[in-house]
Amino acid sequence: MGQVVSERPIGGNGSGPGMNGHGGAAIRSYAPATGELLGEAPNTSAEEVRAAVARARRAQEAWGALPVEERCQRVLRFRDAIVDRTDEIVDLLSRECGKPRHEALLHEVLVAADMATYFAQIAPKALEPHEIKLHLFKHRRSWVHYVPRGVVGVISPWNFPFQLALRDVLAAIVAGNAAVLKPSEVTPLIALKQKEIWDGAGMPEDLFQVVTGYGPTGAALIDSGIQMLLFTGSVGTGRKVAAACGERLIPCVMELGGKAPLIACADADIERTAQAIVFGGFANAGQVCVAVERVYAHREIHDRLLERTVEITKGLNQGDPGKEFVDVGAIIFPPQIDVAERHIKDAVDKGATVKAGGKRAPGQGQFFEPTIIAGCDHAMTVMTEEIFGPVVPFMQVATEEEAIRLANESHLGLNAYVFSEDTDHARRLAERLQAGSVLVNDVLMNGALPDAPFGGVKQSGFGRVMGEDGLRQMCDVKHINADRIALGSKDPTWFPYTASSYSWFKRGMRALFSSGGFLRRIGELF
Ligand code: NAD
Repeated sequence: MGQVVSERPIGGNGSGPGMNGHGGAAIRSYAPATGELLGEAPNTSAEEVRAAVARARRAQEAWGALPVEERCQRVLRFRDAIVDRTDEIVDLLSRECGKPRHEALLHEVLVAADMATYFAQIAPKALEPHEIKLHLFKHRRSWVHYVPRGVVGVISPWNFPFQLALRDVLAAIVAGNAAVLKPSEVTPLIALKQKEIWDGAGMPEDLFQVVTGYGPTGAALIDSGIQMLLFTGSVGTGRKVAAACGERLIPCVMELGGKAPLIACADADIERTAQAIVFGGFANAGQVCVAVERVYAHREIHDRLLERTVEITKGLNQGDPGKEFVDVGAIIFPPQIDVAERHIKDAVDKGATVKAGGKRAPGQGQFFEPTIIAGCDHAMTVMTEEIFGPVVPFMQVATEEEAIRLANESHLGLNAYVFSEDTDHARRLAERLQAGSVLVNDVLMNGALPDAPFGGVKQSGFGRVMGEDGLRQMCDVKHINADRIALGSKDPTWFPYTASSYSWFKRGMRALFSSGGFLRRIGELF
């Protein structure tokens, strides 16, 4: 098979050099498609992380004081620099992640440029102070202000190292914060490229900083005095990270794993559904938190859908994206190959059949064939645990009710998909699915919709990124209340408390809050 085994240390679970949190040997980044050593990045120590956060805090003071329109203009300059340097970014993404160039362009650079544009467009209105109409105390007025929190920490994974990191960093910065990013140790070079582009665009250097390193560097970031943390990664690490934030009372957003079900109803368009399963299962070699991870196909269409899906899968072109235009690239993080093999073996041992792919691909680099497995059920881990690789299991169901029940029978709930020619019917099914987002007759695309909130339910995490609310949550919400009508030297509810004032307030309360007509309620006063 001639596979080049990467020397890349496995750091996502907290192993690797620098476990003591004092930095250590530099991180080496290897090309998944070829095994070539691409470069090194610092293993940032806890002390260096604290110093970076302190610098970021100083930079934030000036940045947070700028008018929001000015901040947006400057962020658009950074966006322009990204667009200008597209080829260079695509090239590095495709080398460091083994991604097809189309995916590096469309799923990373384009999405990041759009996020920057969207946040810059909505921020002036979304972050504007606004008055709340008080329903009872009409002599007072209230306003809500959105105040930058300070320094926002961002910890990101390796599967979309460009856009996922910038999604959170740019929202934080547009909202007036500084951001310190701890990228995955598996893809540090792309984060250093982001920083280089930021500095090259004339942006305030200390406002956005990158601290490369392993798990301990991430842990040090949480412990370095940040005001908020956005974490994207696995459920296991998320548990530790949320606990560390809880210990320090740091607000956090957890964007964790997924196990997206796709329900193919009896009236689904077979060609579109099959194409969507293949794209949703194998884009980014299946290393997508919202990938199609299990298909529940109605028995009326199951066989035809499976057959067409297998046919399209077998026609995919997999290989080194550095050499040619390919559909499916490499496996970024080598242990995911073992995960895929473990799931497939478990499924086959329990009676499932591999219809396409099923093994490591021959040749240089870390490749796993796009795989379709039929005859699966919930006794198999492939249907219940996150795969995060190019493996799509099929299960036949007798009714839509069965599909909904099985889809909801999961500890995860990030995305879900429903395919049916009757969109209204599909929407009603979507309402019953336990997931942060449900797409009807489409897959994956909500990751590229900055207008809409994104996040999970159950162990897929909590909190939302993107959308107006995602931007606002980067701020502390401050309430300011002032007098509309002055009540003189003191309010009637202040001291002293007397028997007659008590009786008067009690009658007033009954008049305000009793059911019944106006006259009856006025009568309560006397
Ligand atoms: P991971 O949990 O192994 O690592 C994520 C990040 O956490 C890395 O930067 C890592 O260095 C850091 N980290 C590790 N230990 C830490 C600690 N103790 N304290 C602080 N930081 C620590 O995840 P991964 O393997 O990089 O990414 C794959 C996972 O991410 C999958 O489960 C996938 O579903 C999930 N993911 C979720 C989303 C989403 O938006 N919900 C998006 C992409 C990926």
